[in-house]
Amino acid sequence: MSFDPNPWRATVLTLFPEMFPGPLGVSLAGRALATGLWTLEVRDIRASATDRHRSVDDTPAGGGPGMVLRADVLAAAIDAADAALGRPRLVMSPRGRPLTQGRVAELAAGPGPLIVCGRFEGIDQRVIDARDLEEVSIGDYVLSGGEIAALALLDACVRLLPGVMGKAESGTDESFSDGLLEYPQYTRPQSFEDRPIPEILASGDHAKVAAWRRAEAEKLTRARRPDLFATRPAATRQKPPKNTTDG
Ligand code: SAH
Repeated sequence: MSFDPNPWRATVLTLFPEMFPGPLGVSLAGRALATGLWTLEVRDIRASATDRHRSVDDTPAGGGPGMVLRADVLAAAIDAADAALGRPRLVMSPRGRPLTQGRVAELAAGPGPLIVCGRFEGIDQRVIDARDLEEVSIGDYVLSGGEIAALALLDACVRLLPGVMGKAESGTDESFSDGLLEYPQYTRPQSFEDRPIPEILASGDHAKVAAWRRAEAEKLTRARRPDLFATRPAATRQKPPKNTTDG
């Protein structure tokens, strides 16, 4: 493997740097990190605090529970980290646009993002506006901090980087890549608690297997995710090729 002088680079701003690389230090992502296919820079937001107590948060203007991450401290942390212009600047947030495989693929194809992890009740709106942060959500539920959300986003990106996954095609055939959920997978043993592997998968007929998988993927998507099914890309709406005559 040749050394990449300019690998995909993630910068994470967090109050809990010890949470990184965490799960990204093992398996696919961990190996890729160790071999330099991507780099992870983790910066402690607290290092940008200026007062005696190193405080990073304060009570919400207008009252209410909890604390809010200060705009001045976070802006200083972003400015100190973001030397390279043109990188996406994200902030993990339940109010953000839900993350999709499409956005993940875009991020993986770029230079790598800077990611702000929120904590407490959230972040002073003025730093989100002033630093033009893109709010990204990983789902309609509330985590206690942005770190696990950032780890999820980074994991999804890193596995798409060239050289990270074993087979190049393993990233193209899976859930969401064509607007469909993936077909069911099976492996040995041939029979598990009286449940055999569907016969067609042992037929050796690649066209039939492909048509079966396609039909299963469509059935599953229609049943579980009618929203995805309705908006899947036009290219995947075609019928399977007609020249796959049985025989
Ligand atoms: N009071 C906020 C929630 C704050 S949770 C609200 O009601 O919207 C604290 C931090 O966790 C957030 O700033 C964000 O960085 C992170 N977080 C929580 N849920 C998340 C989600 N679904 N997606 C991405 N980040 C999330």
